[in-house]
Amino acid sequence: MSGERDEVGIPERLAAVRARVERAARAAGRDPASVVLLAVSKTKPSEDVRAAFAAGQRRFGENYAQELVDKVEALADLGDIEWHFVGRLQTNKAKLVASRAAVVHAVDSERLAQELAKRAEGRARPLDVLVEVNVGGEASKGGVEPDALAPILRSIEALSALRLRGLMSIPPPTETPEGARRFHRALAALREAHGGAARLPELSMGMTDDLEVAIEEGATIVRVGTAIFGARGARA
Ligand SMILES: *Cc1c(COP(=O)(O)O)cnc(C)c1O
Repeated sequence: MSGERDEVGIPERLAAVRARVERAARAAGRDPASVVLLAVSKTKPSEDVRAAFAAGQRRFGENYAQELVDKVEALADLGDIEWHFVGRLQTNKAKLVASRAAVVHAVDSERLAQELAKRAEGRARPLDVLVEVNVGGEASKGGVEPDALAPILRSIEALSALRLRGLMSIPPPTETPEGARRFHRALAALREAHGGAARLPELSMGMTDDLEVAIEEGATIVRVGTAIFGARGARA
């Protein structure tokens, strides 16, 4: 491991990201408090999460079910930490996630929604879910097609163990942050087409490279990994 990651620590990186979020929100005429910063800690050790928590961060995103299980256990002493599952979730892992996460960002099938609902039944409160939309139209990507959004939203609303909270997207990589704008705009337009913020309060979009553009286009949750925790290994 090179010393690069340690030259600037997690608290400083986090502060810089918070400043970016705040600046972008103000520039867009939005209240900075209307944008939640989700720290995506996938592949990073629990100690890194602990460092961010000590610097005031409370919401963390994980992509792999088993890694979520391990981190929840290792960090059980951090009382008000909130876990979000942002990765692709197989139905056979729904149980692990439904009992640990506060929010699942990438629900993309009725089958997964039903499985999460079944596994969320023992919870004190409903499990918050967002529906992932394949805004880039990429065949290999997860997410429901825009045309298929109406029925999945309705079926989630029919499940009392789940609470429909909004839409999420992972656009295809673009050369510049500006390139991501049309995808963010498309997700915001889909929200308008399906009941607006009253029905779908959250728009989870924007990552390290394009969070400013996402905030300009209405993101309420930005999911940031690299800018807080440093570059990841090859896996992710
Ligand atoms: C890894 C990941 C992120 C964070 O990406 P960065 O570019 O490192 O900020 C956000 N969302 C999802 C779904 C991810 O898998």
